[in-house]
Amino acid sequence: MIYKRSSALFEEAQQYIPGGVNSPVRAFKAVGGTPIFVKEAKGAYLYDEDGNRLIDYIASWGPLILGHAHEPVINAVIEKAKKGTSFGMPTEIETQLAKLAVSMVPNIDKIRFVNSGTEACMSAIRLARGYTGKDKIIKFAGCYHGHSDSFLIQAGSGAVTFGSPNSPGVTQGTAKDTLLAEYNDLESVKALTTANKGEIAAVIIEPVAGNMGCIIPSDSFIKGLRELCTQEGILLIFDEVMTGFRLGKGGAQEVLGIDADIVTFGKVIGGGLPVGAFAARNEIMAYLAPEGPVYQAGTLSGNPLAMSAGLAMLTQLNEHPEVFQSLAEKTEYLAKGIEKVLDTHGVVYQMNRLGSMMSVHFTDEPVVDFKTSVKGNNDFFKKYFHGMLNHGVYLPPSAFESYFLNDALSYEDLDATILALDTIAPTLK
Ligand code: PMP
Repeated sequence: MIYKRSSALFEEAQQYIPGGVNSPVRAFKAVGGTPIFVKEAKGAYLYDEDGNRLIDYIASWGPLILGHAHEPVINAVIEKAKKGTSFGMPTEIETQLAKLAVSMVPNIDKIRFVNSGTEACMSAIRLARGYTGKDKIIKFAGCYHGHSDSFLIQAGSGAVTFGSPNSPGVTQGTAKDTLLAEYNDLESVKALTTANKGEIAAVIIEPVAGNMGCIIPSDSFIKGLRELCTQEGILLIFDEVMTGFRLGKGGAQEVLGIDADIVTFGKVIGGGLPVGAFAARNEIMAYLAPEGPVYQAGTLSGNPLAMSAGLAMLTQLNEHPEVFQSLAEKTEYLAKGIEKVLDTHGVVYQMNRLGSMMSVHFTDEPVVDFKTSVKGNNDFFKKYFHGMLNHGVYLPPSAFESYFLNDALSYEDLDATILALDTIAPTLK
């Protein structure tokens, strides 16, 4: 494939934008080579500035669960835009989206819309601190909850790709209130709750992790975590920015059968426009301004274009819940196809998968947490990524990211992807 124009655009972008990108993982640092500049996208395909067509397994990192430029979403945005793009005043559509989201997700009464997953998680933590009157939080190594200061302590995703899990600019004062546990290791959480008795406001977790590859919580771990939080008076925050409206209508709470105290959302809930949200039962949400004392605000929060995209997307999912099954089946088909090819070629790997999230790690040890995730061979991953890219398949450009399948992918696309892997597999040595 030729990436002449993408290269030229990247050169120019680097003169005006730090690193040439507005979010680090886009720069291809982990895999090398030129980031691809997208011209347009439709359904399961990206079309780049050089005229290449790529089968897309990222879907804008998750939001485009029904494929790119999905007509009901696009039409809703166009119609809304004609009537004005922002008012900074209440609009009916905010309540419509809130009502629909609350009806789909278990265990929440009220929801507040923000502009990104970062804002959602940052605000959820403030709410948990305000509600409990405690300062400390527990997060898990390798989980990413956005780039707000409290979370940049052994964060996954781009932060680990760049080898700077603890970012300069985060003060010691902030860092000391974030305690670090190991994913799938309840004892590591118990040790922290014992050592910091009565001081912990919340435990925040990706209920299915997608920022150290895809990692699934064991049943005993996630149930034990719920019990421990209840016993200790700690709020359990499920960061469902990736899993919300993707694993099922009710997200990971529904799939895992666990009630969280606060849930955060992003990605799918905005239908591809910048939206995040956090939600909880009435008694917790009552602490939020203007009802309660915990301040949180946003000029563009509840923006009509973003709300219309979100409402169109969630309406589709609510009316066609069979989509979740269809996505899970496609993911299974792809995963099995990949496994067969890698097995045939004697490649050592781990496949992790739940619903429409999956990842491939090139290591011989089961990947269950951050420590085992970083054991994956990155040189190998680079060959895999670029080999697939040369055959028109766009995978996440980092081993620490989950694949996100979208329902526009056809079985022909999946077969083409498996065939591409079969072609490049002999080079994976
Ligand atoms: N939480 C999770 C689980 C995420 O994966 C992400 C981003 N990928 C965020 C929070 C932050 O969302 P955003 O990039 O929209 O700020």
